[in-house]
Amino acid sequence: MPVQTSPTENRAAPARSGNPHGPRRGIYAAHAQRYRDAGWRYVLALPAGEKTPPMRGFTGAARVAPSGADIAEMAAWRPNGNLAIGAENDVEVDGRRWDVVFLDVDHYAKDGVMRRGGDTVAAIEAAVGATFPPTWSITSRGPGISGKFAGRIPAGTTLVTSLPGVELIQRHHRYAVAPPSRNPHDDGRPFLWRRGARPAAGNHGVEAEPGVIPRPSDIPEWPPELVAALTSDRPRIDPVEVSLSERREWWDSLAPAPICAVVRNRLVVALDVLQRGQRSRFDSTRNATLALLRAGERGHHGVREAIGELRRAYIRAVATSRAGGRTHGLHPDAARAEFGRMLRPEALGLVLADPTPEERAVCTCAEGLLRILLSDVHGPDWVHGQFGIGPVGPLLRDVLDPAVRDYFTGLDAEWSR
Ligand SMILES: [Zn+2]
Repeated sequence: MPVQTSPTENRAAPARSGNPHGPRRGIYAAHAQRYRDAGWRYVLALPAGEKTPPMRGFTGAARVAPSGADIAEMAAWRPNGNLAIGAENDVEVDGRRWDVVFLDVDHYAKDGVMRRGGDTVAAIEAAVGATFPPTWSITSRGPGISGKFAGRIPAGTTLVTSLPGVELIQRHHRYAVAPPSRNPHDDGRPFLWRRGARPAAGNHGVEAEPGVIPRPSDIPEWPPELVAALTSDRPRIDPVEVSLSERREWWDSLAPAPICAVVRNRLVVALDVLQRGQRSRFDSTRNATLALLRAGERGHHGVREAIGELRRAYIRAVATSRAGGRTHGLHPDAARAEFGRMLRPEALGLVLADPTPEERAVCTCAEGLLRILLSDVHGPDWVHGQFGIGPVGPLLRDVLDPAVRDYFTGLDAEWSR
């Protein structure tokens, strides 16, 4: 069921969503949490009346879902900003996992050129023998073929990014500027949700009631034939063969602790998923493990330690029942074996099949830059000795400036825990 909440809930002054003359409360500030409550996790603030740029880190293949604190920060920073939602991933419907994407159809004159996305859609439907189902769509242009038409596809499917007059908004590609944001390419008119809409003539559905936001799980499934037709034909990368001894050698070559910012961020997200006891623990932990291996391949620091921490947390989480530690939990040996599967040589083979150029495989986090600096002063062997075996010696504290000294004091505390 879509969420029907009043945007004025708990507030005396009404925020008139969809009012072209301007709501009293900023668009992002008034609506971001409402989208989050409806299950959209990637709720981004854009400049007022604009489609770009979003805040960094919440878009693209390596995106992280903004936390409640991030949303509050964006609301303070861009209260009047337009609001965008990223494509959703790992939405559970009927016991299966799905991604929610948008078919973005342009079917109007743009810069004097007629964009005929509707013709592209009709051609695909005719070729495949299936049609896009009536669905929720976003448009500022009223009833018509143009709009962003939501669809649900099997989780992890990668679609083509664009066709003539059509783009596929998906987890790694773009986001959807969402109601009641203003469309700068349509004289600032507000985007609105429509329901029961198809990207075809005469199938435009009806405008949704003000304040209604569909849940990702409300979005209808696309027919498999259409998903197959739109699936990216970019060849999948085959893993290179990695033997157990090659894996050990690679593992030993990773930059040691302290864990750098990039690795820490990925680890924190993965630990958070485990703590919240979501059913997707295996998938999310496996994805985190792959991301950590990739971070190690890119020269980031502390990947071994981070994977060790993740392993302990995973085993603890799955070996403990959701219902108070009594039943349902995996035997710890089985949990260890599960985690072991995530670290199979094939996983590393997948990372090594798409190698990062050597000149770009450098940790430029604070921790990495510091190590480069120390290497210049003392030589790499000294640095390796210091970082490899434990806390930094007193000599360094005398040499470096106070800020850096504070940093090391913190590390000492971390290591001695
Ligand atoms: Zn790093």
